[in-house]
Amino acid sequence: MDLKLQQYINGKWVDANSGNTRHIINPFNQERIATVPEGDESDAKAAITAARETFDNGEWALTPAIERGKVVTRIAELIERDKEELAYLESLDTGKTVEESRGDMDDIAGVFRYYGELADKDGGQLIESPVPNSSSKVVHEPVGVCGQITPWNYPLLQASWKLAPALATGNTLIMKPSEITPLTTIKVFELMEEAGIPAGVANLVLGPGHTIGSELSGSPDVDLISFTGGIATGKKIMQAASVNVKKLALELGGKNPNVIFADADFELAVDQALNGVFFHAGQICSAGTRLIVEESIHDEFVKALVERVKKFKLGSGFEEDTQMGPLISAEHLEKVENYVEAGIKEGATLAVGGKRPEDPELQKGFFYLPTIFTDCTTDMHIVQEEGFGPIITVEKFRAEEEAMKLANDSIYGLAGGVFTKDIAKAERCAAKMRMGTVWINEFNLYFPHAPWGGFKQSGIGRELGRLGIEEYTETKHIFQNLKPEPINWF
Ligand code: NAD
Repeated sequence: MDLKLQQYINGKWVDANSGNTRHIINPFNQERIATVPEGDESDAKAAITAARETFDNGEWALTPAIERGKVVTRIAELIERDKEELAYLESLDTGKTVEESRGDMDDIAGVFRYYGELADKDGGQLIESPVPNSSSKVVHEPVGVCGQITPWNYPLLQASWKLAPALATGNTLIMKPSEITPLTTIKVFELMEEAGIPAGVANLVLGPGHTIGSELSGSPDVDLISFTGGIATGKKIMQAASVNVKKLALELGGKNPNVIFADADFELAVDQALNGVFFHAGQICSAGTRLIVEESIHDEFVKALVERVKKFKLGSGFEEDTQMGPLISAEHLEKVENYVEAGIKEGATLAVGGKRPEDPELQKGFFYLPTIFTDCTTDMHIVQEEGFGPIITVEKFRAEEEAMKLANDSIYGLAGGVFTKDIAKAERCAAKMRMGTVWINEFNLYFPHAPWGGFKQSGIGRELGRLGIEEYTETKHIFQNLKPEPINWF
């Protein structure tokens, strides 16, 4: 299979200006699945010009919100229609199980539907003016031209969190998906065209971050950058975006604590601790990779985890019994290996995993065994840094205070979990945990209605929920004097 796909700029499907292309490969067997344009700064510039002119001519921004909402809702319907094809492509491109991809597609359609329905629900606000004979109102308007940059782990899901609210609020945009997983984003641009998004409103440029991404971040014609990806890239984008004081929304990494108290439902906590990390081989920003377990159950808990982990079925995402697919790329596999090596060197104990599988059927894929480290302490690199692979580090605690101290000892603040049957304790912990999402007796659950984002260095701003749409609006106060009179000061 070698799909030939293109970029989408100003309502036209186009190759890269340079004519360069990139092969997209299946991480399960390294076979080529598609050839896509490898755009560069010139393609990004063409897309920015289209988005700028289209925004400035006002066609989309001035379309009644109810009409914009209908188009966004139509995109949700088309995603539902093409769910199987999209799920198939997402799994081919990322290696995740097709069952996971189907779930992603339901969530993605849900995001477009949520923002489609929200598009016309903002009626602005009338302010009780303190000035006699005047009116004062607050309205929300689109920010303008938005650059949107996404990672490879949840390619279309992350794109949907940006595309749907930007379109619903009347912005124009340039999307740059990860260069290694662009397939489903390209397909959704086909669906957006079919749904009736006008030419120039949504543009798609394909290629690397250091060229296209930095052109978007540094361009004075782009008003907002919404970025999901690693912290190092986020910092570069912040710097580049200062050129015209762009609005910024950053969804960065996480090293997320999952605190297990001795009074938790043991089986539930074991199950959720595994789900919290090993879906998509741990390549999840909110993965609960940092387990913090009460000392009295620590040994028994680790034993239960290890027993379950040893039975994981690794394989092709298209086989029904596969529980975990490969990592995304050879480069990422090497990073994960180095991370584990660092953990061993700094004195953590390898309880299970720590290497590539020996199964001959998995040798062409970028597989890594699910890995658990015990005897971990907060000063370790593997406890502080995001591994973005199937790796759990386990720390022990004796008292609630100590658990909270450990949980908050991080530069990140994306998400965390707490498992206990004591409701008051759960609420106390949730209040203390410095993270954008805290789950109680649950891990990794999200839905479009609730905001998503990080405290501390996990990011700026929020996606999803009402806050996720507000990121794409400017707030304007309009004051009218209904009985103007000269002041006669000068
Ligand atoms: P990455 O930062 O390497 O790349 C993300 C995107 O940025 C890609 O499209 C890439 O091409 C682009 N990019 C690279 N250099 C750039 C530059 N100089 N300027 C502009 N754009 C540039 O991240 P990744 O490896 O693709 O994804 C993994 C990371 O994403 C992890 O750290 C993970 O935690 C994070 N992530 C966060 C969330 C969240 O919701 N907070 C969700 C998913 C992933």
